Amino acid sequence: MSPPTSSYFAVQAIPHAGRGVVASRRIPAGTVILDSKAPAAHVIFRQYRREVCAHCFEYDRGRTLPVRDSSTGKVFCDRRCQGVWLAGQGELGGEAWEALHTFVQANSKAVASLGSTLLSIANPEREEIDRAWYRAEKQSLRATTTPQLPTGTPAAKARFPSQAWAKHVDPDTLGYLLSGILCAHQTNDRWQDEVLCLAADDEPYKSMEELDAHCNSFVQLRAILPFDLLPSCTTTVCRALANAGSRNVFGIRSGSDGEEYMGYAMYPSASYFNHSCTPGIAKRRTGNVWEFCTVKEIEAGDECCITYLGGDEKDLTVWERRARLDEVWGFECMCGRCVREAESCPSQSLLSFGSS
Ligand SMILES: [Zn+2]
Ligand SMILES: [Zn+2]
Repeated sequence: MSPPTSSYFAVQAIPHAGRGVVASRRIPAGTVILDSKAPAAHVIFRQYRREVCAHCFEYDRGRTLPVRDSSTGKVFCDRRCQGVWLAGQGELGGEAWEALHTFVQANSKAVASLGSTLLSIANPEREEIDRAWYRAEKQSLRATTTPQLPTGTPAAKARFPSQAWAKHVDPDTLGYLLSGILCAHQTNDRWQDEVLCLAADDEPYKSMEELDAHCNSFVQLRAILPFDLLPSCTTTVCRALANAGSRNVFGIRSGSDGEEYMGYAMYPSASYFNHSCTPGIAKRRTGNVWEFCTVKEIEAGDECCITYLGGDEKDLTVWERRARLDEVWGFECMCGRCVREAESCPSQSLLSFGSS
């Protein structure tokens, strides 16, 4: 049993659209039908690390938040958030974040986020992906035989700089993978029942650089994480995080209008909503949880959809909407509104394809 259950809806197969959320009874407007729970894996981009609370994702217009945990480098809006976060990570999680923080600081000269690299255009194909992960697996066997020094010793500063795999350090990928590894390790039921049941994309990397960053980060995590966590730091877990995350992550943005893109998060229970250009469901983030609420009355048997276009669907033409959805999500929108509008101005279709 995997998809979320509710008295309001059931997750069902939808013709040509995988699975979707279907109302099991009439739902009045303004009803919260789902609360996503905290993300199974997420990352706050390094650029925002001093400005976004590691627990509740609070962002105060770019101001540095008051509480900083010196051993993990995480910041919080207050002591309460720090306490809740630390308790949630457990002792092993705390040690793991500390190890990652020490590693990134010790290798700060090698830090480069993917955003600043010139990305190749081609998506790596399945075969290339398999080869890269096979190499990473072999490399990690060598890396774990490198003697580890206790965190905090002066020599820890010099850990691994001469190793090829330590030459590029991508804290954002490292952070996303570590959060997912901790989910797999500490809440294995959730990992099995929720994350592994998401629709997986077996070619999830948008560039060779992204694939390399994931493989490299895996090798680095194998070398630095506490020994007890290693059974969950595997290529299987790291690949599942990319495969499930590819189409199932939500941006963490500063406001409902999405001014700042501060990171991304995987919410398995929230991933079953399909898209419509006239959505019946609106989502809003409260802290690190998403609520899904009806914006109109929904009849039993109707599909409950959200918009993947963040509100822009209101003003875009059918061709603009379809182009954007295809580019980012890889499907042609066949919602009622798109079908209607495409029929009423079919000639535009040729124009827009001609110009692209
Ligand atoms: Zn907070
Ligand atoms: Zn549509």
